[in-house]
Amino acid sequence: MLGLMQDRPLLISGLLRHAEQYHPDVAIVSKTCEKTTERLTYKSLAERARQLAQALIRLGVKPGDRVATMAWNTHRHLELYFAVSGIGAVLHTVNPRLFPEQIDYILNHAESSVLLFDITFGEQVRALMPNLTSVRHVIAMTDADHMAGQPSEALVYEDLIAQEDGDFDWPVFDENSASSLCYTSGTTGNPKGVLYSHRSTVLHSFVVCQRDGLNLGAADCTLLAVPLFHVNAWGVPYASAMCGARLVLPGPDLDGKSLYDLAVAEGCTFSLGVPTVWLGLFKHIEETGADTSKLTFDRVVIGGSAAPRSIIEKFRRIGVFVIHAWGMSETSPLASVGALLPKHAALDETAQVDIQTLQGRAIFGVELRVVDDRGEPLPHDGKVAGDLQVRGPWIAAGYYKGEGGDVLDAEGWFSTGDVAKLDRDGYVQITDRSKDVIKSGGEWISSIDLENAAMAHPAVQEAAVIGIPHPKWQERPLLLVVRKAGASVEKSGLIDHLSGLVAKWWLPDDVLFVDELPHTATGKLQKMELRKRFGDHVAG
Ligand code: ADP
Repeated sequence: MLGLMQDRPLLISGLLRHAEQYHPDVAIVSKTCEKTTERLTYKSLAERARQLAQALIRLGVKPGDRVATMAWNTHRHLELYFAVSGIGAVLHTVNPRLFPEQIDYILNHAESSVLLFDITFGEQVRALMPNLTSVRHVIAMTDADHMAGQPSEALVYEDLIAQEDGDFDWPVFDENSASSLCYTSGTTGNPKGVLYSHRSTVLHSFVVCQRDGLNLGAADCTLLAVPLFHVNAWGVPYASAMCGARLVLPGPDLDGKSLYDLAVAEGCTFSLGVPTVWLGLFKHIEETGADTSKLTFDRVVIGGSAAPRSIIEKFRRIGVFVIHAWGMSETSPLASVGALLPKHAALDETAQVDIQTLQGRAIFGVELRVVDDRGEPLPHDGKVAGDLQVRGPWIAAGYYKGEGGDVLDAEGWFSTGDVAKLDRDGYVQITDRSKDVIKSGGEWISSIDLENAAMAHPAVQEAAVIGIPHPKWQERPLLLVVRKAGASVEKSGLIDHLSGLVAKWWLPDDVLFVDELPHTATGKLQKMELRKRFGDHVAG
């Protein structure tokens, strides 16, 4: 027997409609590429999104068409989030920091018909244009006064909007329709497209607003320090509309000083970003003596890479709780979130931080398990590590155009490529990506654990660990370190420091000091590049 409840589709347009009706005056503050600060509300955002929807339809955009962006976190990019998906087209956010060949590949593979870009990328777009096979219109996300130097073919965003009256009703369609498309950064092989649906996006938003999810609510003012091109900014733009949270968009400036100034000026209570963003914030604070009492965050989310213990502790010292989250493009991205349990309230600070360094617990809707080489489930005892698998309604069932073939096993599990342990309470500990783990004498050494231990040294700004070939042990760890400006530490000092933190056989065979470490377009350590550069290093 079927239930007798209304079958109303979960659509992204519904989120915006709700925000416009119930939170019309809530502020959306945006830095722009023209170096201005724009102040909108959900009401004005919704009005402009409707005009934009009309403009896109006038340009011939049809349901299912891919509309690409190369853009920072600005109000215009946010308008596209709602307008493109709202008309049933697919928002394809391209990471502009990728190599040009990767961007060509992604745009052509997605067959995006329109490309919208920030004026900071005008040159880049001009160079890309001869290679693009499907793009019919390029649109500069600016007004007519800022078109100098932009590609001559480019249409002007503000002109397109101004031509429309905004008298538009969002269409209603199947909630399983595609809403947005993100390509994984392709650390292995060609980038592959993850195609989200309206249903998966709205369900994911409920988790962002859940108390033990990211706890987002109308009282919040969010500094969006994760780019809108990085897995839908972790779903926060949609969730903000769902609950009426204020949104602060930093534009192209994600350096420590800009983020500090903006967070203080707007009284932000909540933020989220990858570890490098927070390293940048604390670097600014430490170098300039900026007043941390002016920061009004009560919590920040760290994800995308393991949150270093030192950052969790620094935030604690200024009264900010770090929510450590784990996920990937294929998981929308939230899959596990690091809230503390009631029984942890009585623990001392060190023990609480121990729990915060874990990658959190599965949120409802997401099932997690670890399996061995043969796909057999392993116990959740916090001791054995295996391949982490995931299942749920906002987890990818396959890649766009069938790339990579069948990605689910017979029971619907998706293999993440991460090596993890699960403990009795369900806390996940990511010990490595399967391709980064160091295999020494048949045992595994976690590069992430070693990096975290090295980063706990006061002179270390950033650390990376890779495996280098070894005649006897197969692989041994090599530690690469960027020292903090003005700080001094040598190999012996670091090895002494690590000796107190990790097993003796984990100690790196060598330590090299470098000026900087390479990062991927989403701010992760580029281990492949490091292996290329240092893979044949012989420990001295
Ligand atoms: P890509 O796989 O293309 O680099 P994603 O943004 O999808 O891009 O990256 C997902 C991966 O990032 C995860 O599989 C995991 O290895 C890593 N990751 C994400 N969050 C964390 C975290 N909190 N701790 C450790 N690793 C993380």
